[in-house]
Amino acid sequence: MLDLLRLRFRQGYQTSPYPKTDVAFPDHFRGRPAIDASKCEENCRACADACPVGAISLEPLRIDLGACTFCPVCEKACPPGAVTYTHDHRLAARTRDELVIGDSEVRLATALDDESRRLFGRSLRLRQVSAGGCNGCEAELVALGNVVFDLARFGIQFVASPRHADGLVITGPVTDNMRAALLATYEATPSPRLVIAVGACAISGGPFAGARESGDGVPAGMPVDLYIPGCPPHPFTIMDGLLRLLGRMEPS
Ligand code: SF4
Repeated sequence: MLDLLRLRFRQGYQTSPYPKTDVAFPDHFRGRPAIDASKCEENCRACADACPVGAISLEPLRIDLGACTFCPVCEKACPPGAVTYTHDHRLAARTRDELVIGDSEVRLATALDDESRRLFGRSLRLRQVSAGGCNGCEAELVALGNVVFDLARFGIQFVASPRHADGLVITGPVTDNMRAALLATYEATPSPRLVIAVGACAISGGPFAGARESGDGVPAGMPVDLYIPGCPPHPFTIMDGLLRLLGRMEPS
């Protein structure tokens, strides 16, 4: 017992105080891109041509966070600095359209309606479906259970069966081989149920978009309540999106 207490004293309190305080990310972390179209040179399309996933559109310059893999290619292709990456980890949105951002736009996920918050706000059980991705997103979801992030302190937990779940967390582009399993899992989740798309693959197909036998994300007809961009998203990005959805964060 004394040894345990000594160990506890030595290790201290390791759980992050987020969201009570902000998070300091390392220099190499790439969060929300900042767009300053006034720095664009005439007829330049270097960033759009360089983007490996076609996430950038021009006139006006916009980035689709649902397709972006947060690689540094567009930033490097633009010496004037029209596109740069910030350390802002808040990326989640409620609609697909809100993921397409332009000049200095920050659109954060809004909360569920009052009735849904009454149902899910204090206790949310989620079933994760890995639908053909690379496992990067799943690794970050697993990290949410460790002592640093400790997602369970907010009443949010992952469960083994869709029958015990309030919603699905979907990762991967939804390959042909996983489509039927995903739809069956969706049907097995009692209504009302939430659908949360995590990662570029689940939102748009990500790096696999258009590939043979790979889908372009959550199938049409499955309504998505929350999109969490990234490839993969940082655990704090996922946590931020979930807490905003449940109305547990300040709106801005
Ligand atoms: S979004 Fe990126 S990290 Fe997540 S499954 Fe797809 S390729 Fe992997």
